[in-house]
Amino acid sequence: MYDIIIIGGGPAGLTAATYACRAGKSVLVIEKNAFGGQITWSPKVENFPGFVSVSGTELGDKLLEQAMAQGADVELEEAKEIRREGEGFAVLCDSGMRFEGRALILATGAKPRMLGVEREEELVGSGVCYCAVCDGAFYAGHPVAVCGGGNSALQDALLLSESCSKVYLIHRRGSFRGEQKLVEALEQRENVEFVMNAAVTALQGEEELSGLVLEQEGVRREIAVDGLFVAIGHQPDNAAFADFLALDGAGYADSGEDCLTETPGLFVAGDCRKKSVRQLTTAAADGAVAALAAVQYLS
Ligand code: NAP
Repeated sequence: MYDIIIIGGGPAGLTAATYACRAGKSVLVIEKNAFGGQITWSPKVENFPGFVSVSGTELGDKLLEQAMAQGADVELEEAKEIRREGEGFAVLCDSGMRFEGRALILATGAKPRMLGVEREEELVGSGVCYCAVCDGAFYAGHPVAVCGGGNSALQDALLLSESCSKVYLIHRRGSFRGEQKLVEALEQRENVEFVMNAAVTALQGEEELSGLVLEQEGVRREIAVDGLFVAIGHQPDNAAFADFLALDGAGYADSGEDCLTETPGLFVAGDCRKKSVRQLTTAAADGAVAALAAVQYLS
C-alpha cells in the first residue's frame, strides 16, 4: 500500500512525485508509454525555467531521475481502471498488475488529436504520423506535410525541414497560433512552404500515403507527399476514470487550480484537467499543487 499513486509520468506526474516524496510519503508513478510524457515528442524545449535549451527526452529523463532520487517507485504499466477500496484506491493495470494507494493523483495528460479525414487511421504508420521526433527520420529525403498552427506544428516543421526534401506546413487559418520566433525560423528555410487557409480533405495512396488533397480558399489542390505529420493539439484520456471525477464537454477533468476532484483522496494535475494555459510550467505547477493537497489529505 503506497501513500500516493500517481497515474501518468509526464512533467505533472513526476513533479508531483518529487514533492510527495519530499513530504515523506511513499509514492508510485505508473506510466504507460515514456516517462516525460508529451514533452518527449519535442525536439527542443526553450521555455522551461532554468534550461536555455534542452531536448524533450533529456528533460523527461531529468524529471524522472529527480523523482527517483527522492525515492519514488516507477512502473511502466497501463492503468485501465481505478476502484475505491476502503478509504483508499486500487489501480488495475492492463497486464493484470494491481497497486493500492491511500491517495491518487491523475496526471494522464492528453493524446494527439486526429484530423478526422477518411482513411487516416488506416494509414497510421504508412505515412500518417503524430510525432515528428519519433517518425521524422523515416522520411529523410522525402517530401512531407505538417498540419497545424500551434507550437507543436511549427517545431515539427522545423525539425523535418532539416532532413526532408520539402515540408508543406498546412494551417486552417491565415496566421499561426504558435510563437513568432518559430515562424521566423521557418521563413528562413528554403524547403518550407506555408499553405495557409487550407484543410486536408483526402489522403491519397493505396497502401502507403502518396499525397494529400487540400481545399485552400475554396480551391482544390493536390500535393505529393510521403508523410503527413498531424500536429493539431491533444485530447484528454480520462474516460476510464469518469466514475470518480466530473469531466467537461471535451473530456478534461473539471477541476480548478486547487487540483481537487469531487472524490476525496483523488486529485488531478496537468493537461488532463480543464485549464486555460497548457504548458510544461503549468503542468509542473499542478504537480506540486496536487501533491501538497494529497499530503494534506493524508494527514
Ligand atoms: P495547440 O496550441 O492547441 O495548436 C493546435 C493547432 O491545430 C491550432 O493551430 C489549431 O488551429 C489547429 N487545429 C486544431 N484542430 C484542427 C483540425 N481539426 N484541423 C486542422 N487544424 C486544427 O496545440 P499544440 O501545438 O500541440 O500545443 C499544445 C500546447 O503545448 C501549447 O500550449 C503549446 O504552446 C505547448 N507546446 C510547447 C512546446 C515547447 O517547446 N515549450 C512545444 C510544443 C507545444 P486554430 O489555431 O485555428 O485553433
